[in-house]
Amino acid sequence: MPDTALVRRQLVEAAADLFTAGVMSHSGHANLSARLDDDRFLLTPGFVRDLRPEQLAIVSLDGRLLEGELRSVSTEIIAMHSAVYRARPHVGAIIHTHSPAATAFAVAHRPLPCRTEPMLRFGQPEDVPVVPWGPRGSDVSVRGIAAVLSERPTTSAVLLANHGLLVFGPDSAATAHLVVAIEESAEAELAAVALGGAVDFPAGALAAVQASIARAAS
Ligand SMILES: [Zn+2]
Repeated sequence: MPDTALVRRQLVEAAADLFTAGVMSHSGHANLSARLDDDRFLLTPGFVRDLRPEQLAIVSLDGRLLEGELRSVSTEIIAMHSAVYRARPHVGAIIHTHSPAATAFAVAHRPLPCRTEPMLRFGQPEDVPVVPWGPRGSDVSVRGIAAVLSERPTTSAVLLANHGLLVFGPDSAATAHLVVAIEESAEAELAAVALGGAVDFPAGALAAVQASIARAAS
């Protein structure tokens, strides 16, 4: 059994880290979840600012509220989180934000290329694909997410067209770290347009980074 208290604390810390890192939109909107077991996950109650561990709800993958309270805004997005947990058995945490620069790519229906060191190193050494728009938490939206995850078995993030960003990883801290890496990469990509446009890594960059990480760990 997981240490539920620990997973709660880690999720709340990840939410606070998003604000500290400056990757939240003006509204402060986000939802975060962390897997407890094959059938249950913790979910933010409909807000994330000044969140406390005991305010997290427990829900089942089939959408039942098992413990705690959820605002209606959060009830809508249970299926969005469940779709990712079902598609990716090793995913331990999911974060959805409206991070402004990443959302610009989502609004433009443009995949975000992997052209920065943080994206290459911290879990997304490939472009972030775009999921076609559907109303938040709707069957259309959830099926779209599942389809892209099936087509792109190694992606750890998707852009939700005309909406925002959805990122997933082994735990809350790693997932928050990747949100930050993606948002700063999106900012750099947009800033580089003024300088003639961002440029791809040289061929073999990922292999070189993996070799460097392996050397540092040995
Ligand atoms: Zn949203």
